[in-house]
Amino acid sequence: MTTQSDIQGTTFEDLLSAVEPAVGGREIKDPATGEVVGRAPEHTVADLEAAIASARAAQPGWGALSHAERSGFLNKAADAIEANAEALAVLLSREQGKPLNGPNARFEVGACAAWLRATAAFEIEPEVLFDDEGGRAELHHRPLGVVGAIGPWNWPMMIGVWQLAPALRMGNTVVMKPSEYTPLSVLALVHVLNTVLPEGILHAVSGGRDVGEALAGHPEVDKVMFTGSTATGKAIIRSSADTVKRLTLELGGNDAGIVLPDADPKAIAEGLFWGAFINTGQTCAALKRLYVHEDIYEETVTALAAVAAAMPMGVGLDENNVLGPLQNRSQYQIVANLVQAAKESGARIVTGGNPDESQPGFFYPATLVADVDNENPLVAEEQFGPALPIVKYSTIDEAVEMANALEVGLGASVWSSDKEKAREVAARIEAGTVWINKHGAVDPRMPFGGAKQSGYGLEFGVEGLKHLAQPQIINY
Ligand code: NAD
Repeated sequence: MTTQSDIQGTTFEDLLSAVEPAVGGREIKDPATGEVVGRAPEHTVADLEAAIASARAAQPGWGALSHAERSGFLNKAADAIEANAEALAVLLSREQGKPLNGPNARFEVGACAAWLRATAAFEIEPEVLFDDEGGRAELHHRPLGVVGAIGPWNWPMMIGVWQLAPALRMGNTVVMKPSEYTPLSVLALVHVLNTVLPEGILHAVSGGRDVGEALAGHPEVDKVMFTGSTATGKAIIRSSADTVKRLTLELGGNDAGIVLPDADPKAIAEGLFWGAFINTGQTCAALKRLYVHEDIYEETVTALAAVAAAMPMGVGLDENNVLGPLQNRSQYQIVANLVQAAKESGARIVTGGNPDESQPGFFYPATLVADVDNENPLVAEEQFGPALPIVKYSTIDEAVEMANALEVGLGASVWSSDKEKAREVAARIEAGTVWINKHGAVDPRMPFGGAKQSGYGLEFGVEGLKHLAQPQIINY
């Protein structure tokens, strides 16, 4: 096995050569330039079978280690990421498109290490439920076995760590299936982690939908952690039914933000902007529809437009940029179509909305759309890109009703100068997390999960760890 010190100073090219197949493979192109980044192996269901068999064989030994021993490995895994952070960030930037700077590629790699360390630090002890003359009952958390982790293309490394860190910590072994759009990032991450983890406990299989489906239905897989669209989540529920597999589903969202009439538009504009445009809008819990009280509507739109105008968008490796391209053509087309339809319906394009089609790359400018109805598809559907609809409201009841009108409820936010007033409104919103005066701020100590069709199960914190365990009662 390679040791961590062997891979100090790894470059982007070193990472690529570690994960590319000797011959062949599928070309992965940089969404900012169209240049070939590298070749991804085309793993098959047979490769998946081999990975699951290896993970199954390694699980009893890994599961028999103490929490302290497994936490020690998670901390070493964080060290390995930090030792290779820049090479990982360059690969992520080139494959996913996100800039190195801003809350983007370097930030994502840093979050991977931070999440591993936080997951290593949580205490999880057996609980004594009662102990009296009638007897004693203890609640233990046992490993489940093999965990399948199926991920999306927007934050491929960070979401991969969100899945693998708690699974490993609880004594499970893991088989990952990255998105076909960003396989190299996850393969490189797993390569780096496997330089310090025991052999066989962590695998990545880079296949398409067929591999994902086979993983979700496999009898030797005990749990699937899935992050991706609601439609795929429903398919996974079906595939997993015959084996009654445990599932954690982090699905699509369409997060509402409500700006109360007492908010200060200039003071909140930058927070609103990053709440919506982080990762160029390609974030599950990003602000995707903004409701602003009529008294401060124009002022808020103007303040947001001023922030948007100051944010450079371009190729990820240029240190100046903080916004990048859409990751793929079909996502670009979804955003372009929704904005075009909003424009045709009479909505006002405050800024953006006019992509330069002569340039290479899937760049869509940061776009603000005002005077738009709640029923407009740009509001009602998940745009998952840099286009924010801003809806005017008159009463708080009306704003809450519009926020709750959809079938999804991942996150939401309330913006106000009065925190107590904001908390009252927050309590009325149907979403897994409601932020006040910020949006999308995840923290490894705060459980995260969706309401309604945004999914079920929780990630992060001790609650998140428990979702990777089989609860067992011992009663005597
Ligand atoms: P997607 O559902 O298209 O794909 C996600 C993964 O599922 C990919 O790896 C894909 O190969 C795999 N897959 C596809 N069909 C499958 C099947 N039938 N069985 C098993 N696996 C299958 O999602 P995406 O476009 O990559 O990601 C964007 C979506 O993810 C957005 O809706 C976004 O809101 C959501 N998302 C949610 C969260 C969250 O935490 N809730 C985080 C990030 C992204």
